[in-house]
Amino acid sequence: MSDYAQLLDAAIRDLEYRKAAGERFVTVAPATLSALAAPVSGQTTARAKPPEAPAPAARQATAPRPSGLQPPPTTLASPARVPLFPAVQPTPPAKLPVMPGITLPAGERAAAFAALRERVLACTKCPHLVASRKSVVFGVGNPDAQLMFAGEAPGADEDRQGEPFVGAAGQLLTKVIVAMGLTRPSVYIANVLKCRPDTPGQTFGNRKPSADEMGTCLPYLLEQIQLIQPRVIVALGGTAVEGLFGQAEVRITRLRGSWMDFQGIPVMPTFHPSYLLRAEEGPDKGRATKRQVWEDMLQVMERLQMSISEKQRGYFQKA
Ligand code: URA
Repeated sequence: MSDYAQLLDAAIRDLEYRKAAGERFVTVAPATLSALAAPVSGQTTARAKPPEAPAPAARQATAPRPSGLQPPPTTLASPARVPLFPAVQPTPPAKLPVMPGITLPAGERAAAFAALRERVLACTKCPHLVASRKSVVFGVGNPDAQLMFAGEAPGADEDRQGEPFVGAAGQLLTKVIVAMGLTRPSVYIANVLKCRPDTPGQTFGNRKPSADEMGTCLPYLLEQIQLIQPRVIVALGGTAVEGLFGQAEVRITRLRGSWMDFQGIPVMPTFHPSYLLRAEEGPDKGRATKRQVWEDMLQVMERLQMSISEKQRGYFQKA
């Protein structure tokens, strides 16, 4: 890929990241605005003269990044070395988020992960959830994982134990992971929402997290994704897809099995394991639904270039 294409790609990914994180505006240098407004010359591939860096006052006017998104230090280039990036220059490049593909040294990454964990465990952004929670469920597994599973929110069991996917649905997820030839500690498991949604006046069951709750908590998952840089994410259920992509009313029956893209990371949407548990009560004991999930996992394994045995290929096929 040419330098130009790489820079363009990085700028697009940065903007997508900011949008996903809730930023709605970027500060653009006046010189850039004039350049954009000028008629386009015939030479579309020629390098444009880099606009001048914004005046200090313009930098100060930049809106602060949401607190959950303060990026760890990066090795990104300075403006002078990134001539096309100033087209969108909301913050000095040293403060840009760590995008997938830019890896921190192992020690810094471990420290950043530990610091993030501390921040998440102490979070009080949603007072109603702080009041009802027994624990903050940060996530579990290998911070170097190639494969990450993202669910929606902790249930009662997870809230009690402080670990995601430990209840009945979690045990089924663990079986899926093992069937793939992996182990729970080798992958990373997290939720969009880190606290159990409260259930006032309800004596049992869980509540779907609201879009607001997920939007408030999403920056933490984004930071986890940035630090782990998984090669593939599996989104467990429609609510996880809604939370991750900021979409409303996702139909997982339509989406599952087709790759999505989250800032350059392939995402496989599939059914939530609790949907599989409910399907087990059907006439085929959930076999058809399990096969669908398994086909999604076979795609994940192929994408990760894992070896797949004939036995694995045949799971849940019609007898
Ligand atoms: N369901 C989820 O989405 N996450 C959990 O951690 C448990 C159940």
